Amino acid sequence: MSGAIDITRLHKAYGRHVALHSLDLHVTPGTIFGLIGPNGAGKTTTLRTLVDVIRPTSGTARVLGEDPRTGGAALRRRIGYVPGELRLEGRVTGHRLLAFYAEVSGPVAPGAVDGLAERLGVDLTRPVRTLSKGNKQKLGLIQAFMHRPELLILDEPTSGLDPLVQREFLQLVREARDAGQTVLLSSHVLSEIQQTADEVAVLAAGRVVAEGDVASLRLGSVRRVRAVIATTDAAATATRFDRLPGLSGLETRAGDGILHLSGTVDGAIDPFVKALSPFEVQDLTVEEPDLEESVLRLYGDGAASAPSRGGETRRSRRQRAQRGERDRG
Ligand code: ATP
Repeated sequence: MSGAIDITRLHKAYGRHVALHSLDLHVTPGTIFGLIGPNGAGKTTTLRTLVDVIRPTSGTARVLGEDPRTGGAALRRRIGYVPGELRLEGRVTGHRLLAFYAEVSGPVAPGAVDGLAERLGVDLTRPVRTLSKGNKQKLGLIQAFMHRPELLILDEPTSGLDPLVQREFLQLVREARDAGQTVLLSSHVLSEIQQTADEVAVLAAGRVVAEGDVASLRLGSVRRVRAVIATTDAAATATRFDRLPGLSGLETRAGDGILHLSGTVDGAIDPFVKALSPFEVQDLTVEEPDLEESVLRLYGDGAASAPSRGGETRRSRRQRAQRGERDRG
């Protein structure tokens, strides 16, 4: 069965710089597919190829069964696209701008635009150029969703949105999937992909370095932790934490009956929390590390030498990805 998106050996070079190295990706219809990766990984390049804003050096992309280079306006009407960098500067109001987009995108159900504007919280009577970055981004989201396209291609769609609006937007994405639409969502924020995506591909330096469902990638299971606890025997307490399974990179600082602990928990957080419980906990922070660190940790773990696709080991793919990173610099 052909996918909503089928990318085969897609290669893109900007002059001597290779942005995509023979990329393969397949998105199943009716799913949310998360494309995640650090800055410069090639997410925007991939998405722009799908809407024919840029053309690949070689390889093919099929979108809803068609070639984006020849699909023209008819194919574009079946797609809702939010570009990574949205520039809206006109004197027209949000209403007028969206009415213009509707002429291009095809029929929009009555009330759809106002309903989306209300949910996202944007005033469509104001001239577009007077809107904040976040409110302009909301117009970008509305134009992508308003005609209920079969496929949504969303490049970093939550950039500039405050957390409450981000949550509402992620709800819109899930509703789109539940209504049978397909969503390709790019992000460098792990948590929003975790909350929505059915399948994920991790891109690093123009290559897919991991692919699967969110849980199997274990990206989210790595967390940086910091705690401040009261203890009468800092040395013994530090040793206790040093032996705690799943806690690595432990750093400690002691003084005045207080012990500062920091490190990285890989896997369940429960053993760490239980280990803290005998002590008076004065402060506790648990945060996800940045995506780059998550990706590198994933490929540095014990499974690093397990065979992966095409007989290549995970470690060798990581090393190639890292070489690609260095090529960029
Ligand atoms: P970000 O999250 O920072 O937007 P990204 O994953 O979307 O990153 P791309 O914008 O696709 O990454 O860029 C991939 C690589 O290609 C980067 O190294 C970037 O510098 C390079 N690149 C992108 N567009 C061009 C261009 N027009 N000319 C030259 N190099 C480019």
